[in-house]
Amino acid sequence: MKYLVTFLISLFAFAKAYSQEIAPQTALVDIKSIRAVVTPQFETKSIEGQVWVSFIPLEKVDEVRLDAKNMSVVDSSDIAIVIAEKEHIMLKGNFQPNKKYTVQFDYTATPKQTLYFVNADGNDQIWTQGQGKYTSHWLPSIDDVNDKIEFDVSVVAPSIYQVVANGKLIEKETLGQSTVWSFDMQQPMSSYLVALTVGKYKKTTFPGSSGVPMEFYYYPEDSLKAESTYRYSKQLFDFFEKEIGVPYPWQNYKQIPVKDFLYAGMENTGTTIFSDSFVVDSIGFTDRNYVNVNAHELAHQWFGDLVTATKSEHHWLQEGFATYYALLAERKIFGDDYFYYKLYESAEQLRELSDQGKGQKLVGAGGSSLTYYQKGAWALHVLKEKVGASAFAKAVKNYLRKHAFKNVTTDDFIAEVEIVYGQDLTDYKKKWLYQSAFQAADALESLKRSAFMRSYFELQALRPIPLKDKLKPLESVLKLSDDYLGQEAVYQLAGGNLQQSIGLYKQAFASKNTLIRQAIATSVDQVSDPLVYQFESFLNDDSYITREQAFLKLWLWYRTKNDLKKQKELINIMDGQFGFSDGNIRTLWLTLSLATQGYESDEAGARYDELVSYTGPEYPFQLRENAFQYLLQIQSFDRTSLKNLVEACTHHTWRFRESARRLLTELIKEERIKEIMESVKPLLSEKELAYLKRINI
Ligand SMILES: [Zn+2]
Repeated sequence: MKYLVTFLISLFAFAKAYSQEIAPQTALVDIKSIRAVVTPQFETKSIEGQVWVSFIPLEKVDEVRLDAKNMSVVDSSDIAIVIAEKEHIMLKGNFQPNKKYTVQFDYTATPKQTLYFVNADGNDQIWTQGQGKYTSHWLPSIDDVNDKIEFDVSVVAPSIYQVVANGKLIEKETLGQSTVWSFDMQQPMSSYLVALTVGKYKKTTFPGSSGVPMEFYYYPEDSLKAESTYRYSKQLFDFFEKEIGVPYPWQNYKQIPVKDFLYAGMENTGTTIFSDSFVVDSIGFTDRNYVNVNAHELAHQWFGDLVTATKSEHHWLQEGFATYYALLAERKIFGDDYFYYKLYESAEQLRELSDQGKGQKLVGAGGSSLTYYQKGAWALHVLKEKVGASAFAKAVKNYLRKHAFKNVTTDDFIAEVEIVYGQDLTDYKKKWLYQSAFQAADALESLKRSAFMRSYFELQALRPIPLKDKLKPLESVLKLSDDYLGQEAVYQLAGGNLQQSIGLYKQAFASKNTLIRQAIATSVDQVSDPLVYQFESFLNDDSYITREQAFLKLWLWYRTKNDLKKQKELINIMDGQFGFSDGNIRTLWLTLSLATQGYESDEAGARYDELVSYTGPEYPFQLRENAFQYLLQIQSFDRTSLKNLVEACTHHTWRFRESARRLLTELIKEERIKEIMESVKPLLSEKELAYLKRINI
């Protein structure tokens, strides 16, 4: 997973420590396979399932425990008594060692988490998120990552939907209005990697160079965005197979965007689910594309899915590897400068944290994302430089082969490196794996081997120098038209004397480099006469960030000048643009058009209604968040938007929920809002009312 929030890891660690008091079931029973037919019930947001659990006892046992949260069962087994408890389903019987048993039963579950029913613009969507150890909320399974199981899932869903689950689709059978989709896995995996999506999708399919089928899903209305969203996917796939030296371990690879996902992406076995905010057109691709998340989740198919850390203490074996290998793949696409710049950025974050005394050991439970992901990537980069690229590659290959479809610890990996390297790595382990401080000096030394980074550091050293004394060097840097050096040069112009910097701004503007122009649009605080022409040309630049910034800053500039005619012209120019899927340009447009005196006043009502409509739950939370913020700025919350805000306060996406809660707490201080809220209450659900009660509204 990418950007797993720290508190979840801590929870995971806590639950893990607790469960260790009981002897692990893995020592007594080997669960071989779980076959399930699940039927999601959209009306009640519940699951009806039928399960066949096959296991081999390692000793004589009289019960087998499955993890199953709040499920009810119908016992139809003749070899066991199946009993549902609060957290488990118990299979009680007289089970002899080394004999294979298959127990069948039916169950129902109404998952409070993990499996989400989401309304996506009038269509239903279902998706799952099983990491940390949550699959047992919708499917009886084993929370312990150390029991790897072959899961074969069939899903019964209305025929208007596409269904995706792990493995190969082996059968699609129509039953009245429904279709049964049957998937087959040939290899075992940890339960948290089981996944399911249901929704309206189209797909394109093509194989990687080794012939593994890849399926790329997209919403029917997004067919023009499929290419830009999935750009470089084949290159990434081919790169990993070659670089890692172990064939892709699963039968196929599928990627599915979903609405209101909890994270950027999740590496379910052969079935990556990712946030639909990464679905972009060619312009959006420049600003925020899916390539990094795409590479990260794909790398996990080996690091995390094929070999899985035994416990959270070794979580970096998942995230550090995925982060580093994603960077290696991106290096192939975006070049060396990109690679070193990204390493530099993460080194800066790690150094800062470490300087504050908040550095963490890489090997240990309860680490932050920065530690497991970025420090983990750095630890691998340094190790590779130390032992040499070919020894490193060989060790990684041996490590994956030896532990394929099994669980691993940090020592398992280091042992393979020591064998190939032929030397002891105690010193490296001390500094990079078991030391809480970040080795910033070593990192800097490593970065300085790149000529690009040396130029960057030289340029950075000019920051404290007054603008008039560094015009020449900045000019020569801007001539290079390089992404990172160019942006840094532009940032050094910000806030300075415009008379001195105007020549350099014009030079930067003329560079034809989209990212350099974006740096101008974002770093210039205020438009002024000498830059008006440049900012006007930004309105149709190849970046939605640049366009949004230019739009807002020009509008403010014309207002300062009391030039209503120009303001209205500007609004007309920007009409009809939506921007990213979060509507960054459209929501700004609606707001500015409402704030522009006398602009098409007979249509103001419709524009206001459109802005309010974007606060509704059928839209992605990122768009809703923008609409809420702009309504706050024009102080125009009404019944509909307030009702939608309360809904947002109970949303499953933590970050969005928290921002909605902060906003509501702020708004409710106003008498006018309090009054409207009273009239909204009869429209709210029990859950929403309970939340209001909890915060004394
Ligand atoms: Zn990850």
